[in-house]
Amino acid sequence: MSDNRRDFIKKSTLIGLSGLVSTLFGNEKLSHLESLSKLSDSEILFYLPKLPYSYDALEPYIDKQTMEVHHSKHHQTYVDKLNKALENYNEDKSLNLLLKKASDLNTAIRNNAGGHFNHSLFWQLLSPNPNGEKSIPLTKLNEAINNQFKSFDNFKKEFTEIALKTFGSGWCWLILQEGKLKITSTPNQDNPLMNMASENGKPILALDIWEHAYYLKYQNKRADYITNWWNIINWKKAEELFLDK
Ligand code: MN
Repeated sequence: MSDNRRDFIKKSTLIGLSGLVSTLFGNEKLSHLESLSKLSDSEILFYLPKLPYSYDALEPYIDKQTMEVHHSKHHQTYVDKLNKALENYNEDKSLNLLLKKASDLNTAIRNNAGGHFNHSLFWQLLSPNPNGEKSIPLTKLNEAINNQFKSFDNFKKEFTEIALKTFGSGWCWLILQEGKLKITSTPNQDNPLMNMASENGKPILALDIWEHAYYLKYQNKRADYITNWWNIINWKKAEELFLDK
């Protein structure tokens, strides 16, 4: 494979999420998706995306070691296992299609496709806040949150409650469902784009509540991790996701 071709595919990995998620990963559209799904089985389909900041950039809210292990080990493993699990899968391998029919797929594809998508989105929805500035939603999303949840503080409270009561490993989401915002959680590496999720919708915020996301710094204190996460949300990205209906 030529270097250009490889770059092209690397770049396409994050973009290869059409349909509901077409703009989650930037403005580039999914014309590359066709090419992705036509790759032969021996080609690597998915790559670990680079973080848009350094491993220590989210300090003190998320520590460097956690970020490094989470990205370079955990996320990399989802990517590797997804590529492996798809070796003998002969249907369309586009990530968005895999998510849409997740309940029909074997556990390895479902878990690792979810793991790759969820983490790719999670990284983008984080943003350094070295000066500890107040982190609040931008205009339109702020307005929608206030309408839907009475106030931002009340929204934070409800989101935190759902994240805390989610048993075991999973994710907590703010989604857009038929024009309305809704808080929901999913077990394991499932997400609201998967057909069998209890609530379907487009993710606007994503919070990883697996212990691997916080254990090194916070041990069992999921509540402290969540409290700190509110300081490093990339509200610009959330606003983009919200406005791109
Ligand atoms: Mn994780």
